[in-house]
Amino acid sequence: MTSTPVKAGALFLGACLAALGVGLAVATPVGQTGDSVAASRSATPTVPDVAASPSASAAAAADLSRTETSRTPAATATATPSGTGTPSATPTPTPTPSPALPLEGRVVALDPGHQSGPGSSAQVPNGRGGTKACNNSGTSTNAGYTEPEFNWDVVARVKALLEAQGATVLLTRETIDQLVCVDERGTFAQDHGAEIIVSIHGDGNENTSVKGFFAIVSDPPLNDAQGAPSQALARAVLDRLGEAGFTPNAAYPGGLSYRSDIAGVSLSERPAVMFELGEMRNPDEAALMSSEEGRAQYAEAVAAGIADYLLANPLEP
Ligand SMILES: [Zn+2]
Repeated sequence: MTSTPVKAGALFLGACLAALGVGLAVATPVGQTGDSVAASRSATPTVPDVAASPSASAAAAADLSRTETSRTPAATATATPSGTGTPSATPTPTPTPSPALPLEGRVVALDPGHQSGPGSSAQVPNGRGGTKACNNSGTSTNAGYTEPEFNWDVVARVKALLEAQGATVLLTRETIDQLVCVDERGTFAQDHGAEIIVSIHGDGNENTSVKGFFAIVSDPPLNDAQGAPSQALARAVLDRLGEAGFTPNAAYPGGLSYRSDIAGVSLSERPAVMFELGEMRNPDEAALMSSEEGRAQYAEAVAAGIADYLLANPLEP
């Protein structure tokens, strides 16, 4: 950039501002670039009243941009005061809200079965007039990967997947080692405003040739939520597990185990299902359940099944 156009620009700026009734309070040093002129003018506190006027500045900027072709768009932008007159201050139409996520407003309880660490034999209500032990610490693979670790990890993944679809997800325990008895987990859904509760487990059949997933529901049902709705929730997840390529447990035709002795489902007044996702003593499933990839696949199937159920059973208006 030569000095001649700069001077011409500076002089022209003065002329423009003078024409607008603005005194050039800042002397332009020799050799100062047009960019600096604009910067010092906009930063000068002695001419704020008129220079800050969008119309005056905009006119000056427009004149400069026409007469000084070397001026960059950035310099023109610098000459325009922020605030009124800029596009950001122009009333803009309210942006169209993004479409609601499919599970927005839905509340799901997830129960990572068993705490790490010791259980408790304290007797608690079983939902059918009797009592049973508070909780045990579950099973493990022969290599020592524990059921609480598996349950906690899968539940965390399911939670994230459902939350990504807009659901609110509540867990029955806050930490992997928190001891929460089966009766408290059984009433958790109605106690915390969840629509459904899904309990995640790995089974520990001592027969290592046994493999496959199955679902446990309360039977005979003790309320409306424990019959068809719980079975429909079970079915939705079982279907997704099958589609994902996991093995159904051959001992349970249709994938359902009907139990009267599971407090976690007997005490629920919301659709409630306990899933045994695999057999931790079976070498094939132990490898699958011990791997991050395997757990991610379990979680995707469980979350997809829960979403299927919720979308098939919309909230009543
Ligand atoms: Zn278990």
